[in-house]
Amino acid sequence: MNLSEMREILSREGIQLTKSLGQNFLHDRNQLRRIADMAELTRADRVLEIGPGLGPLTELLLERAGEVLAIEKDARLVALLKQRFPPDPSGARTRHARFQLLHEDALDFLAREQRNWREWKLVANLPYSVASPILVELAQGERAPERLVATVQTEVARRLMARANEDDYGVLSLLVQIDFVPRDSFRIPAGCFFPAPDVESTCVYLQRRAEPLLEGAARGVFVELVKRAFSQRRKMMLKLLKQHWPAERLLQGFEALGISPEARAETVSLEQFVALAKRLS
Ligand code: SAM
Repeated sequence: MNLSEMREILSREGIQLTKSLGQNFLHDRNQLRRIADMAELTRADRVLEIGPGLGPLTELLLERAGEVLAIEKDARLVALLKQRFPPDPSGARTRHARFQLLHEDALDFLAREQRNWREWKLVANLPYSVASPILVELAQGERAPERLVATVQTEVARRLMARANEDDYGVLSLLVQIDFVPRDSFRIPAGCFFPAPDVESTCVYLQRRAEPLLEGAARGVFVELVKRAFSQRRKMMLKLLKQHWPAERLLQGFEALGISPEARAETVSLEQFVALAKRLS
């Protein structure tokens, strides 16, 4: 689907795009192909796509993967997608028979459904306003997909990939990197979307860790620790954590892990947060 086809469909159907739903559609074939390439799809793959829009990425995913489940919030787009990818009456495993479309708010669906996504890959050009909560919801825990390939606002991409002592390092970096390793990324120019967004876009690829860094109760402690430590970025982390854990235990942990009592959260690595969570749990 190129730009003129996209414009034609939207005007034929009388669809005015909704900014609050992040409706910036990707029409550049090269960029769409690069996203699908990064997912390294085979017929054995099951793909979750959030926000299929008019379906330019969906089309590629159906060509390459075994199964695609797409979740779209806008009823007008759901109706269009149903026309574009109708169910196959013969029931044969044609590309349309391998496509399932849900008319849902993806965030509500993910929170409610608690499905096991371990055998799935997320491949999506996400609605930017809800990209972070969607990624956190999907990435945490034992049910997370094996790979996340997501186009997000560049600022969010930087946070997803940041390490300690980098400006963008924070809660989002740690809550995702506890289970995922950032592997690759590429910028997508604004002109590749219709309409062009006001912000820059980047596609990121995160791979689920082969072995979880934390299990059981320590995971809950890690989340609490990270949220409290970054609740006031400029404050010493020890001061913030003392409100919740005994100072003595914290100091022992800090010393054993080589964390200065004056350290701010942004200087503490993922590995140090993990080790501290283990000690406190
Ligand atoms: N994948 C398409 C593309 O690349 O052209 C569209 C991407 S567009 C950035 C985001 C899409 O997500 C829109 O179709 C929008 O309607 C949909 N969307 C927005 N919020 C949503 C939500 N909470 N749940 C599911 N879909 C949502």
